[in-house]
Amino acid sequence: MGAAAVVGPQVSLTTSRHIQSLCHSLQVPHLEGRWSYPVPSSWTREKFTANFYPTPPDLNQAYIALIKEWNAKAIAVIYEDNDGLIRLQEALTDLREPKVHLAQLPNDPNRDYRPFLKMIKMTMRIRHLVIDCRAELIRTIMDQANQIGLVSEYFSFMFTSLDLHTVDFTPYQIQQGRVNITGFRLLREGWRQSSDSCAQGQDWRTNMNQLTTTSMLMYDALHSFARALRTSEREGPISVPTLSCDTERGWGTNGSQIIRLMLQTPMMGRSGLIRLSEFGRRDDFELDVLELGAAGLEVVGSWSRAGGVNYTRTWGQKTEEIATSMSGRTFRVVVGLANPYVMEDNTTESGFSGFCIDLMGEIAKKKKFKVEYHVSPNNQYGTFSEKEGPSGMMKELMENAADMAIADLSITLDREKGVDFSMPWMNLGISILYRKPVKAPPQLFSFMGPLSTEVWIYMGTAYLGVSVLLFILARLSPQEWQEPGVCSMAGADPDFLENEMNLRNSFWFTIGSLMQQGCDINPKAVSTRMVAAWWWVFTLIMISSYTANLAAFLTAGRMETPIKSAEDLAKQTTIKYGAKKTGSTKYFFRDSSKELYRRMYNFMESARPTVYVDSSDAGVERVIKSKGLYAYLMESSGIEYVLERNCELTQVGGLLDHKSYGIALQPGSPYTTVINSAILEIQEEGRLLELKNRWWKANTPCPDDNKVNANELGIDNVGGVFVVLLGGMCVAVLIAFSEFIWKSRKLAHAEHTSLMNEMAKELKFAFSCKGSSKPVSKPEPLRPSQSATYLSNGPGNWNADVTFEPYQRKP
Ligand code: GLU
Repeated sequence: MGAAAVVGPQVSLTTSRHIQSLCHSLQVPHLEGRWSYPVPSSWTREKFTANFYPTPPDLNQAYIALIKEWNAKAIAVIYEDNDGLIRLQEALTDLREPKVHLAQLPNDPNRDYRPFLKMIKMTMRIRHLVIDCRAELIRTIMDQANQIGLVSEYFSFMFTSLDLHTVDFTPYQIQQGRVNITGFRLLREGWRQSSDSCAQGQDWRTNMNQLTTTSMLMYDALHSFARALRTSEREGPISVPTLSCDTERGWGTNGSQIIRLMLQTPMMGRSGLIRLSEFGRRDDFELDVLELGAAGLEVVGSWSRAGGVNYTRTWGQKTEEIATSMSGRTFRVVVGLANPYVMEDNTTESGFSGFCIDLMGEIAKKKKFKVEYHVSPNNQYGTFSEKEGPSGMMKELMENAADMAIADLSITLDREKGVDFSMPWMNLGISILYRKPVKAPPQLFSFMGPLSTEVWIYMGTAYLGVSVLLFILARLSPQEWQEPGVCSMAGADPDFLENEMNLRNSFWFTIGSLMQQGCDINPKAVSTRMVAAWWWVFTLIMISSYTANLAAFLTAGRMETPIKSAEDLAKQTTIKYGAKKTGSTKYFFRDSSKELYRRMYNFMESARPTVYVDSSDAGVERVIKSKGLYAYLMESSGIEYVLERNCELTQVGGLLDHKSYGIALQPGSPYTTVINSAILEIQEEGRLLELKNRWWKANTPCPDDNKVNANELGIDNVGGVFVVLLGGMCVAVLIAFSEFIWKSRKLAHAEHTSLMNEMAKELKFAFSCKGSSKPVSKPEPLRPSQSATYLSNGPGNWNADVTFEPYQRKP
């Protein structure tokens, strides 16, 4: 019929392929403005086709770029038909991160997608959705998503349709900042810049929202064709013949010249700059990035193959926008009760007080929002795992029952997988809270403390051994046998050799040296002096060591803790230990790779009754009440607070790990950056430290244990020495009495009088104050065969056994 070009078809891909091949054989330009996936080997056969629709691989790059901007952990890609799946195929295979869940929109005749969307929300827990569907369906999907609570600031939708701009989002525009809808459209700048005469005098922008991308591309295709036709006409008249599929004849050079001109001449069309490749594909194009704002869909940036996504607003502007959207709103904050972070308090408006409440109050004041607190069910902090899902505060956030969570909530990897965390506002580590060792009252015999019982026994043995050795060596050594000195008893035989180092003197000498007192009797032989010298070395060291250690033992009673570290705790079973039931401390032991901590976890798990507590306060209470039989694994900041107030408690050992507390927000929450900047501000202003001091410092601090009784020794400390002295004196008196009785008995026998008489006589003399000389008792003369023991001068010298003539020595 003399057609110079074929346009379309728009709907069926199969028909389109058929027309393509027909135009190819008849050499008639074929203009397209629809999505079609190019099969590489067929590209050469499509020489007469010019497709103005952006090529799918490049379009996919744009989708990927936007998906990456989300920073999501998982996304759902929802497609309407198989074409959609093919369209997105490349985008999905290229995507390493995030995790992609594919799902087809149910083919429901009533178009009820709510169960499907509910499944995505509740079961798959996905908050970022990429939806590939016809533009007519977008509003239906959004309305149904809204009904099931999927439309909020925590969910993001990206529509792949380039006709997103034709959808009416008016009901969602007013919820500014709370509906995240993104998409693309072909660059519209070209609308204004186009030199096409048809555009003149018309305000295209007025109708732009009704114009689909396909219609616009058709317009551009025809425009491009008209230009090429005009250019060819300048070279000579063009005849358009009647062609038939039944004949082999095509249009010839005119057809190919027109298509060549179309491919080679870039132009500014309604859909931006049109530059077709040699295969008639549009792989160089620019897209507007659209986002739903208060005034409808707004252009927030652009995408190009070379430059990727470029936002026209800065990060700061975006944060500002989010902050503005927060002002005046009331946020639901879930809290966990723990002193001094969050405490129930009826005197305050919110019903709570504490460090975290103050911190949140400061943030809210800065960002002008309001807060409404509620306690996590069962005061559970909880965690998140793929298998078991979220628990405690994590559940509250992930199920949209709260916007934020604040408590002494540790930032952990598991939790981070489920929710978002703000920047940390406090650093700490796990440690052990235990009862302070009770100061034992000073012991009576604490002067024995510097040396252990073993050492005392060894010393006693050494004393005995050295004394006996000295005695034996003295007996063996000739130098020790000497003539009796001037002090010898008168009448001693000069030929008589005497050994001073008898057993008694040996013991006296060694004890004298040990007590650093010396002695009149000294060894004379080399061997015995050798013994003496080494004994002195020994006593010097022992006495110095004893003295050095003595002060510590005599002063304050010793404070001994049965446990000094986690290792000590793990080694024993008498002292039970536990942690908060649903806290990160317990999870730390459960997930630790260290054998010691795993062992401790197994112990805690198997302990009956349970060693876990519902709150840190309950843990502290249990430590106090259990009188040393329970230790609580607690975080150092909490311990610091407790120690300020409970002087009977102490921290045992150092930190087992290092971590921080943060505010938890819903996954992908837009408010994270705003909260972060508020925390930073508060920190830099020094308010964070002020708050910490306000809540941590106690009015009456605990006394310093080390300062007590540092200088003064009381009777309690040294009483034992008096006892020993008294004991020694008593023993001496006893010995003196036995000696007295023994000697009196002997004298009574010699003087033929009774023991009582003799004792009375001697006692009378002893207490008669007649000086220190005593008359010698004269026994009755003895017959030559009789023997008698005679007293020498004075009562102190009763021991001298000396034989006087004419009396014989007692056998
Ligand atoms: N900070 C802990 C948490 O975030 C609670 C206290 C603890 O486990 O010791 O779960």
